[in-house]
Amino acid sequence: MIIVVGAGIAGMVATRRLSMQGHKPVWVSAAAPPAALGETLSERGVRFLNALGWSGALDATVALPSQGRFSVWGSAGLRTVQDEDGQGYLVDKARLEDRLGQWLQRDIQGAQRARVQRVESLSDGVRAVLDDGSVLQGQALIDCTGRAAISSDAQTERRRLDRLVAVWRVFDLPEHVQTLSASLVEAVELGWWYMSPMPGQRMMVALFSDADLLPESLSRDAGCWSGLARSSDAVRVRLESLGIDCVLDQVTPTVSAAASTLASCVVQGRILRAGDAVATMDPLAATGLATALWSGVQSADAALALLKGDAGPAHRYEKDYLLGLVHHLNSQHALYGMEQRYAGQPFWQRRHRPLD
Ligand SMILES: Cc1cc2nc3c(=O)[nH]c(=O)nc-3n(C[C@H](O)[C@H](O)[C@H](O)COP(=O)(O)OP(=O)(O)OC[C@H]3O[C@@H](n4cnc5c(N)ncnc54)[C@H](O)[C@@H]3O)c2cc1C
Repeated sequence: MIIVVGAGIAGMVATRRLSMQGHKPVWVSAAAPPAALGETLSERGVRFLNALGWSGALDATVALPSQGRFSVWGSAGLRTVQDEDGQGYLVDKARLEDRLGQWLQRDIQGAQRARVQRVESLSDGVRAVLDDGSVLQGQALIDCTGRAAISSDAQTERRRLDRLVAVWRVFDLPEHVQTLSASLVEAVELGWWYMSPMPGQRMMVALFSDADLLPESLSRDAGCWSGLARSSDAVRVRLESLGIDCVLDQVTPTVSAAASTLASCVVQGRILRAGDAVATMDPLAATGLATALWSGVQSADAALALLKGDAGPAHRYEKDYLLGLVHHLNSQHALYGMEQRYAGQPFWQRRHRPLD
């Protein structure tokens, strides 16, 4: 029996994939409602959802078909970004997870609501100790617990590459306002802003910067955040045109971890990791959801093969993951390198250093 831990995208995909292959996994999910973040699901991610038979998940309550991406990056002008792969969707991540979770609960029998306290490797499998003291024993375990990465131990070093945080808020838009379903990214001295329309006439507004560079009062003082927004160009104009610039002062933003981290190994004996439990990636490239989808599928296939004594797929999974991460880090570095207007600012200096 394979245990899957985590109710994010990676955990649900791994569970779904295992049951599509005729396996009966035990899916352990903690009852922690996710935040209503507005995220971009790339076209690649949409293809993975379709392959899992979940294409119906992206209806108008969960996602908006993206009508494009705008950016102010490298120069002061507003540009449209062409994505060769297609435009993807602007999703409410909480609603997407809720939808998929309901479908999964309906389709599988082995769902268990609990927190896993720790994971222990056995000679022939894995033990998961739950927070009520009970124990689950399986032949393999897929750790999809995101940044918590509960299976990480002293042997699995998790390296943090930066101190990125998201300072964000979701706003209701006035009823009469119509907006293009297009995201906007704007580079500023402190980092970059992201605005993304969400289903239900809402707008996600986020500033990404390093934790140590932001004013200390930011999470307590809405005026501080709105002041930063007002000193931007394109974001300020869009906030004004949507009529939400006046409410910025009334709500304090939420600060969430968004730092890039890397685990030193993806597969460790009968423990396989997927999604953010392997690596958390800078959201600038919007690849996290697609990677969670891809790795959920791959880790499930690799776990099934391990049960049959075939370690080949697990080795390939680990290799492909690490190659993908190298590719991601290089493209990310090139993307940050395109913005040289603020090269003297700490946020940008840190990202312009050569990769080690
Ligand atoms: C601010 C921000 C913006 C982002 N924007 C984008 C974007 O636009 N596009 C994009 O593609 N990606 C984006 N990402 C990244 C993307 O959200 C993640 O890569 C993706 O959601 C990871 O999914 P996951 O399933 O691996 O992890 P998670 O979604 O973190 O799921 C982890 C799950 O594990 C559970 N869990 C944790 N500990 C335990 C435990 N001990 N026991 C049981 N369960 C446990 C949690 O409750 C949760 O259900 C963004 C990330 C951030 C922080």
